[in-house]
Amino acid sequence: MFIAETYESFQGEGPWAGTRSLFIRTSGCNLRCWYCDTPYTSWHPEGEQRTLDELAETIDKSATEHVVITGGEPMLAAQLTELTVICQEQNRIVTIETAATVDRSVECDLMAVSPKRLNSAPKDAHWQMRHEQMRHQPAVVRSLLNHYNCILKFVIDHEADVADVHDYLSEFPEIAASQVWLMPQARTQEELKTQSGWVQAAAAANGFQFSPRLHVEQFGDKRGV
Ligand code: SF4
Repeated sequence: MFIAETYESFQGEGPWAGTRSLFIRTSGCNLRCWYCDTPYTSWHPEGEQRTLDELAETIDKSATEHVVITGGEPMLAAQLTELTVICQEQNRIVTIETAATVDRSVECDLMAVSPKRLNSAPKDAHWQMRHEQMRHQPAVVRSLLNHYNCILKFVIDHEADVADVHDYLSEFPEIAASQVWLMPQARTQEELKTQSGWVQAAAAANGFQFSPRLHVEQFGDKRGV
């Protein structure tokens, strides 16, 4: 598998924020969000090929119960299914973080879906078109909702993005408000300070959850921590 990095840290986002976890970050993404906080897996994919045996050893050596498989877009990786089976065999609690543009059968405890809305569109004309064609795949979202324990995590940059979340949810009435998390768009500690307060208030006012970005709060845009 093409892997950007593996490291232990705490989960910074969503329902398991603060939980010590082993991160396995695949490299490569079919989208190009302008705010991507891991451009080394999307705009300029970096990493190295690692075999399933090597990754199994990394998991085995880790004392953390939680494994977060993220990217990039991990669902693009052909060997993802086998990797999740390895995690299961090692009794790990697995989160997969995905933009839900690709469906794949996996073993996971939490499917953290982060739909990429129009507010993620890149400026680059070539990528803008591809991004727009790829970013919303309702059949994939439905399949994930039907097969996995899902949360929906929306990146909020402006107030209008909250109304856009409601637009999205009108297409998927099966999603409960309690599954919906609003997370501030922020790649730096300064941005996070500016954004967190009003996004948290908006989440509360709309009956949604608020997701912090603990890793940005603590480490800013530092990689692999
Ligand atoms: S989907 Fe995620 S990894 Fe891909 S470009 Fe967007 S933010 Fe980056």
